[in-house]
Amino acid sequence: MNLPLRHWHPETSVCSLRRHVTPAATVARLRPEDAGLGVDLPDGRRLARCVRCDVWLAVTPPADPTTETLPPLDELEVPRRGRPLRDAIVLRLIALDRAIHAVIFGLLAWLLIYIDLHLGGLQSGAHSLLQAVQRVLSNRGQQSSRDFIVSQLTNVLNLKASTLSVLAGSAVAYCVVESVEAVGLWLEQRWAEYLTAIATAGFLPFEIRALIDRVTVLRVVALVLNMAILVWLLWRKKLFGLNGGYHPKAEPFDRRELFGPPRPAAQPAASVPAP
Ligand SMILES: [Zn+2]
Repeated sequence: MNLPLRHWHPETSVCSLRRHVTPAATVARLRPEDAGLGVDLPDGRRLARCVRCDVWLAVTPPADPTTETLPPLDELEVPRRGRPLRDAIVLRLIALDRAIHAVIFGLLAWLLIYIDLHLGGLQSGAHSLLQAVQRVLSNRGQQSSRDFIVSQLTNVLNLKASTLSVLAGSAVAYCVVESVEAVGLWLEQRWAEYLTAIATAGFLPFEIRALIDRVTVLRVVALVLNMAILVWLLWRKKLFGLNGGYHPKAEPFDRRELFGPPRPAAQPAASVPAP
C-alpha cells in the first residue's frame, strides 16, 4: 500500500508551540467578506481559521470581543508562514550552531588562560615527571610507551607563554565573534547575517587547510556544514544583492487570494445548440 508522503509543516509545529492565530475568534460579528477567515454556524458556534497554519477551529463567539468586525485584509496581522517562516527556523538553527561554537571557544580560552597563568608550576611538574618516567620505563624496557609519554611531557616543557597568550587571545576573539553572531541571528538582525557570512567565508581557508593536513569525519562535516550555511545565507537571505536583492516587506502570498472569501464556482458555459 502506498502511503502519502508526509512533509514537515513548520506552521503546524510553530502553532503547537505558540498557539493558533485566529482573528475571527476575537470579533463580535463576521461579515460575508470574512468567509475566508471565519464563519458563524447555525448552532451558535463559529469556525475560525488560523492565519498561520490554516486549520479551522470551532470556537464560541467571544463574550468580550476586541473589535466589532475584522480589519481590512491589508491591515490584518498575519504571522509569518511559508518560506519566511522556514527561513526564520533555519536562521535560528544557525544561531544555535554558532552558540555551540562560542561555548567551545570559550572553554578553550579558559583552558589556555589557565595553563598560561600556571605555566611555571606545570612545567616544573612535567620536568620531574619526565625524569621519573624515563627512569622507570627505561628499567622496564618499554620503549614505545616511553617515547609517547616523553614526547607529550616535552611538549608541555616547550610551551611558550607568548604562544599561549596568542592562542588564548584568538580563542577569546572567536568566542566573542561567535557569541555576537548567535545573538544577532537569533534576533534576526540583518547585520548578523552579513557578519556570519563574512566570518564563515573567512574560516573556510583554515578549514580546507586543516582538511588537507589530515582528513577526519569531524573536519569534513564542519566544512560541508559551513559551506552550506554560507551558500544558504548568501542566496536565501539575498546578501550583497544576490538572488534578486533584499525586499524586507515583500509577502510571498496574495492576501486576497489566501484569506478572501471563496470564489463562486465557475458556471459551465451554456451549450449552444447546433444550427
Ligand atoms: Zn495554527
